[in-house]
Amino acid sequence: MFDINDLITALSKLPGIGKKSASRLTFFLLKNKDISGNLLTILSDVIINIKQCELCGQYTIKNICDLCSNEKRNKNKLCIVEEQNDMNAIEETGSFDGIYHILMGAINPLSGFGPEKLKINELKSRITKESFSEILIATNPTIEGEATFLYLKNIINSLSPSIKISKLATGIPMGGSLEYSDKLTLTKAILTKQYL
Ligand SMILES: [Zn+2]
Repeated sequence: MFDINDLITALSKLPGIGKKSASRLTFFLLKNKDISGNLLTILSDVIINIKQCELCGQYTIKNICDLCSNEKRNKNKLCIVEEQNDMNAIEETGSFDGIYHILMGAINPLSGFGPEKLKINELKSRITKESFSEILIATNPTIEGEATFLYLKNIINSLSPSIKISKLATGIPMGGSLEYSDKLTLTKAILTKQYL
C-alpha cells in the first residue's frame, strides 16, 4: 500500500512542482475527493487512450489527428517543432496554414540527448513519401534548438535539395521559447521567416 508520502514524492516529479507544492497538492486532493476522483478518472482514461498521430506525432485519440486530416491545410508546407506546445503556440497565431512534425525534443550535445532520441526517422520517411515544397524549421532560439536546426537542414538538403527551407525570423530572444512568446512576436517571426 502506498502512503501519503509516496503521493507527495510522485507529484514532486512533475515539472515546476517542488516538494512544497507537491505536499500542498496532496492535501488538497485528499480534502476534495470529488476533484481528485474526477482527476483520477480523466488521467487514467487519457493515459490509456491517447496515442500519437501517425503523421505529425501530436497526442490524439485518433490514428491521424484532425489537423493532418484537415482538407484545408496546405500539405506542401511542413513546420517542424520541438514539442506539441510549440505547435499550439504557432496554431494560436493563425499565421501558418500547413501541417506539422513534432520532434519530441531537441538535440542537446551536452547532456547526450542525440538525434536518435527524436522523431527524425519518421521525418525522413515523410519527406520521402509526402510532397513538401517548403519546410519551416521552427525550433527554439536556444543552443539545443540551433543544433537541431542545423542537423535537420543537412538532412532535408540531402534527401530533397529542391525543398525550400526557412527558419523563424529573429525577434524571439535567444534563450527564449516559442511556447512563452507573445502572439504578436511569434506571428511576426512566422511572417518574416528567413529562407536559407
Ligand atoms: Zn497529425
